[in-house]
Amino acid sequence: MASHEISFDQAKTRVDELVSKLDQYSHEYYVLDQPTIPDEEYDKLYRELVELEEAYPELTQNNSPTQRVGGTLLEGFEKVAHDTPMLSLDNAFSEDELMAFDRRVAQLVDGPYSYHCELKIDGLAVSLKYENGNLQQAVTRGDGTVGENVTANVRTIKSIPLTLKKPLTLEARGEIYMPKSSFIALNEKREEQGEAVFANPRNAAAGTLRNLDPKVTASRNLSVFLYALTNVSEQPVDTQDAALTMLDQLGLKTNPERKVFESMSDVWSFVEDYQEKRTSLPYEIDGIVIKVNELNNQEKAGYTVKAPRWAIAYKFPAEEARTTIREVEWSV
Ligand code: NAD
Repeated sequence: MASHEISFDQAKTRVDELVSKLDQYSHEYYVLDQPTIPDEEYDKLYRELVELEEAYPELTQNNSPTQRVGGTLLEGFEKVAHDTPMLSLDNAFSEDELMAFDRRVAQLVDGPYSYHCELKIDGLAVSLKYENGNLQQAVTRGDGTVGENVTANVRTIKSIPLTLKKPLTLEARGEIYMPKSSFIALNEKREEQGEAVFANPRNAAAGTLRNLDPKVTASRNLSVFLYALTNVSEQPVDTQDAALTMLDQLGLKTNPERKVFESMSDVWSFVEDYQEKRTSLPYEIDGIVIKVNELNNQEKAGYTVKAPRWAIAYKFPAEEARTTIREVEWSV
């Protein structure tokens, strides 16, 4: 039944049910790093909740997952407030939804703009703070406002420099992930040792980064792709493209598979291209992130409580190779 066809009372019952179910799944995913349902199923239930809340805005609860970022924080790590919130991204699941996003951007920006397309790495978000070129602090996204201090663990990740090539003070944000080959090797080892296997590389990365023993993190092969530069002591950049080039030049690893486009139809070709290529990449991606490239246009577009209005994540449909891994996973 479509959301506009159901009565207020029916909608209320379903909203309560969805909030409570999604809350439980989020706890399993973000806190325990042990999801019990595939992401595609979570996304479907989340989408149903969004539609019900759009049909009946008065049913939107403060604790609804549509109003919150991430999950609760783990005990055992120091809690650190982010200087600027680490938000989520709105999702799109079709070309039509991307076109609708483009129309909204055109209205908000009201002038010429372009898009920066990036792979959506399936890992977990982290903020790295450098002072005068030295790594000072690494914090997880957490609930978006406050994260977990994982500096000791992050210092063991070889692709994260302890010192930048220039003595700048800045914050870089990106995704910590576990390459597919390391994930397979780790699970094989765990199976041999009779330990529970990780559901997917994302959960393995999260479990590894948020482990209380940095030696465990050091023994597993985590890596990083940085995708945002904020709070930089000198700000010579005015586009996302230039920001990522600057990160590269400082020795901070970015993903090379990125491109700027003038139109959403070109963006769509990029999306289709990577939908084909995704299985051959050495790390997991679950979509493409499309960002307005010019920082002044980003400012014009602004933010909702949960996500920037200048970016969207196109989520790939469930694909066969992944489903096969998942069939094994969900049966363990
Ligand atoms: P999201 O994954 O939809 O998008 C936001 C995140 O994308 C960012 O925080 C960042 O970590 C990541 N990202 C990767 N590459 C990026 C790039 N190039 N630029 C910017 N960001 C990039 O949102 P979310 O809030 O992290 O998580 C929601 C998703 O988590 C859901 O869509 C669902 O698939 C999954 N989830 C699954 C379950 C489950 O039980 N299976 C439960 C909760 C959430």
